[in-house]
Amino acid sequence: MYKLRICHLYPDILNLYGDRGNIICMTRRMQWRGIETEVTGISVGDPLNYEDYDLFFIGGGQDFEQEVLLKDLASGKSAQIREAIEAEKVFLAICGGYQMLGQYYKTWDGHQCDFIGALDLYTIGEKERMIGNYMYQCDASDGGYVVVGFENHSGKTYLGEKVRPMGTVLSGYGNNGKDKTEGARYKNVFATYSHGSLLPKNPGLADHILKTALKRRYPDIELEALDDTFENNAHDYMQHRLHG
Ligand code: GLN
Repeated sequence: MYKLRICHLYPDILNLYGDRGNIICMTRRMQWRGIETEVTGISVGDPLNYEDYDLFFIGGGQDFEQEVLLKDLASGKSAQIREAIEAEKVFLAICGGYQMLGQYYKTWDGHQCDFIGALDLYTIGEKERMIGNYMYQCDASDGGYVVVGFENHSGKTYLGEKVRPMGTVLSGYGNNGKDKTEGARYKNVFATYSHGSLLPKNPGLADHILKTALKRRYPDIELEALDDTFENNAHDYMQHRLHG
């Protein structure tokens, strides 16, 4: 029987706007196909051995929570996360969690947070926040999905040359409100500003991420199609609303 081992990083601290819904969504989509899922929460003080997991999830958090985690990250988790990413483990990171995979974050009131440094990107906070429902289109190599979601961040993220955007903004702000990029892709990392939660109403992207993780362990696995009528209705409703 197939099994997917998910590591949920800081589930008690990084869970803005119900980001945990992504874990529920992934677990259910596996269960509907008879695939076992094991979710392990790893938080402050817990040891992390990246080889124990196939897929890592990090939710969003305010500047305060991000600063609280700096010490724990520096005690060994940052190094494990960097190694995991280089070893092509699959990561889904949302907003604050996305920012934390980057080099640093300078908050709008001048605090410098040195982050995990796994991705070639940095974030600069500004007083005016970027808030609202938004929409972006994933790269064709990731299925070209139109993703609908919700963003709320003060940080503006700028991508370096070693990463590519996860998508192009169709409506809303995305990474920085200027260059139309949204999120970041590097090896098997999917990082995005999208709360919502993201995956329940973007089922194509959910399966793409799950399949990427499963294929590393079971190269021949195929995911059987599910009836996504409700999910697609929720998605299409928001897509039409954002298109005005
Ligand atoms: N603290 C970050 C910011 O405001 C991330 C917020 C979030 O995760 N929604 O930019």
